[in-house]
Amino acid sequence: MKKLQTVRGTYDLYGDKKRAHNEIIKKASKVAQSFGFEEIETPIFEFTNVFARNLGETSDIVTKEMYCLEDRGGESLTLRPEGTAGVVRSYISEGMQQNLPVKLFYHGPMFRYERPQKGRQRQFTQFGMELIGVETPQADIEIIAAAYNFVNYLDLGGNVVVEINSLGDKESRDNYRDELVAYLKENLDGLSNDSKERLEKNPLRVLDSKDEKDKTIVENAPKFGDYLNAESKEFFKLVLEGLDRLNIEYKVNERLVRGLDYYDHTVFEITTDCLGAQGTVLAGGRYNGLVEQMGGAKTAGIGWACGIERLAMMLKEDIKKPVEAVIIPTGSDVMLEAMEVAYILRTSGIITEQSYTGNMKKRMIKADKMNAKYAIIIGADEVAKETVILKNLDEGTQKEVKVSELIKEIRG
Ligand code: ATP
Ligand code: MG
Repeated sequence: MKKLQTVRGTYDLYGDKKRAHNEIIKKASKVAQSFGFEEIETPIFEFTNVFARNLGETSDIVTKEMYCLEDRGGESLTLRPEGTAGVVRSYISEGMQQNLPVKLFYHGPMFRYERPQKGRQRQFTQFGMELIGVETPQADIEIIAAAYNFVNYLDLGGNVVVEINSLGDKESRDNYRDELVAYLKENLDGLSNDSKERLEKNPLRVLDSKDEKDKTIVENAPKFGDYLNAESKEFFKLVLEGLDRLNIEYKVNERLVRGLDYYDHTVFEITTDCLGAQGTVLAGGRYNGLVEQMGGAKTAGIGWACGIERLAMMLKEDIKKPVEAVIIPTGSDVMLEAMEVAYILRTSGIITEQSYTGNMKKRMIKADKMNAKYAIIIGADEVAKETVILKNLDEGTQKEVKVSELIKEIRG
């Protein structure tokens, strides 16, 4: 039998880390709601085709990262490697086109068979937003503004930068692809084997290569910007003007392409410089062809997703377990009374811990460690008078308070 441990690339989430995750998701949800988005939860597994057909047959995810399984009924299912395909599947199968635009956010586990390393797991968590049904640059500006607002709302170390590019419409991309292929063929000998293969199947993806040899060749490759047709250029210009107007700092990066086939026009990433190689924390783009490709009517869409684990590693401060009050009975003779007082506080929404064992000194030390604001001491004398001793641990003061006045005293 295997040792009792989690599967490679997966981990248990609890304590500090779980609190950090919750905090990030809470903030992201709040930002998304301020922008008028509503939450959706789609299943963790879908029919394999939802991903295999739509993310791009030559994408890293489809070629080597998907967790596929056959269920007992012989259906080919896949644990979702990303969120957009499932949301768009739901948009179509639930008939959401009746009420456009559709603005949704989601969060939850994603699964990719990758080589585990810092910031890269096989089960990880994403938060994402999708805006379906708006063709104009307003959607691009809105969704990037939400991403920027969210990442800045977190207390991260390091610089936060939006990198942005335009892949243009199909005509522009086809023009560019021809030029790129010609250039890469001239430099074939210098390319990695992976990129030689990409060149055959999906040359744009060479630009996304992390191989050092490829990177130098990519450095001098033709630039997307020179091949955008007038319409695509104008569209991108309007997006950038919108970002300027909202004072969103961005950097146009003409090498930026995204790993999935469904993107066109605007693509963007938010990077930070505090995690080295795994510096991308959020990524997204337009996918005007995806809804139609999946069987719906032609409908524009744009979205992004971020990796919660990577963001959690960058939070400057640990999120502490919140405790407002600790109830400390002086002995077992007043244990029930102490529990009763704790119950009164807890049912009023005051986060209350109780001390279980130990002498008074040990109990006080523990209360202090919990970072509670108040210690509430209860002994036989206090029980007789229906009072407690309320110690304000922040201020180092204490006073005797009637149990009936306690909540008012704490809430102020
Ligand atoms: P990378 O280039 O790092 O492999 P990606 O392009 O595959 O990223 P996306 O599919 O765009 O990533 O996912 C969006 C975000 O989700 C990433 O920026 C990253 O923060 C996070 N992410 C992606 N894969 C993983 C993983 N295996 N473990 C942890 N986080 C991940
Ligand atoms: Mg990847």
